[in-house]
Amino acid sequence: MSNAAAYAVSAPDGAFEKVTIERRELGPHDVLIAVAYAGICHSDIHTARDEWGGTKYPCVPGHEITGHVAAVGAAVSRHRVGDRVGVGCMVDSCGVCAPCLADEEQYCVKGAVMTYNTAVDTSTQPEGHTMGGYSTQIVVTENFVVSIPDGIGLDIAAPLLCAGVTVFSPLRHWNAGPGKKVAIIGMGGLGHVAVKIASAMGAEVTVLSHSLSKQEDGRRFGADHYFATGDKQTFRDLRGRFDLIINTVSADLPIDNYMRLLNLDGTMVVLGMPEKPIDIRPYTLASYRRSLSGSMIGGIAQTQEMLDFCAQYEIGAEIELISADEIDNAYDRVVASDVRYRFVIDAATI
Ligand code: NAP
Ligand code: ZN
Repeated sequence: MSNAAAYAVSAPDGAFEKVTIERRELGPHDVLIAVAYAGICHSDIHTARDEWGGTKYPCVPGHEITGHVAAVGAAVSRHRVGDRVGVGCMVDSCGVCAPCLADEEQYCVKGAVMTYNTAVDTSTQPEGHTMGGYSTQIVVTENFVVSIPDGIGLDIAAPLLCAGVTVFSPLRHWNAGPGKKVAIIGMGGLGHVAVKIASAMGAEVTVLSHSLSKQEDGRRFGADHYFATGDKQTFRDLRGRFDLIINTVSADLPIDNYMRLLNLDGTMVVLGMPEKPIDIRPYTLASYRRSLSGSMIGGIAQTQEMLDFCAQYEIGAEIELISADEIDNAYDRVVASDVRYRFVIDAATI
């Protein structure tokens, strides 16, 4: 075991506090990572505040992790000491079920081991559940550690480990590219990276945001069009327009209104995870043969593919670097949609 400093929250309405946690002894396939940066994902907030239920305390969130390899187990072959590496939302999976064998570990039949808040035995984590990246160190099995290409700074790469792959995966799955009209709802952490990636893939990209306040940024990220959803006329003007809608909004939306913006055979992919069920009229689906789907992060191989794609197109997240004692305030600002566009914790301040 080794000690690491971390920031943890102990109750749904608690504040973050500095704590010491233990990381497991390196097994033959384990990599010890000295964390450099950890992004703040809205899922961290849903979990820390127990908005989905089932949060295990003390909770150390963080699944957008970059850093350097500090030590490796005896049998590690994929990474060497000093390598620039990243860890996303998962740290292990069964490895033998059909989704795992198809490089879709996020759909592991037994349930992937998530980077934080998954129950594990106390030989893996003394507290009995995984602890994430708001920490100086983390130990992860080598197959769940990806390489950060040289072209991307570790700070702007961190958010790609969750936000990046979560949007890349459905954009690839539903063939975003030339000739496709793609809308992104919500231009926050996931949404702004979605705009950059969809645009680099060659799709015609439209942002659907609360207001026009971030329009200039949206166009700088590659959006061809930008509309305010606060304006009812938007829904009349854009009816039947899109082949693919990526919904990144963390709050409840009148989804039926958005579904009607899809063209024949169009699909809306839900990425945002508010608690309430979605209301849709069957007629909205049947007319124009529309589909509603969802997507969960992306597999490890696809995470590496996304990082290589981002390096090729010089895509990184737009970040605001904060020190660890600013996490509570950053959470409030994310919830208020006051983030441009991802907070990233400088692990040197932990
Ligand atoms: P975020 O940075 O807070 O962005 C969410 C965006 O949604 C905001 O910037 C805002 O965009 C819009 N929004 C927020 N509240 C709204 C409201 N009341 N009405 C309309 N629009 C609103 O969050 P994020 O980190 O990108 O995460 C977004 C969601 O995805 C969260 O629910 C998170 O848990 C989920 N998530 C899912 C996966 C997955 O695997 N499926 C992975 C990661 C995260 P505008 O200001 O442009 O309107
Ligand atoms: Zn996330």
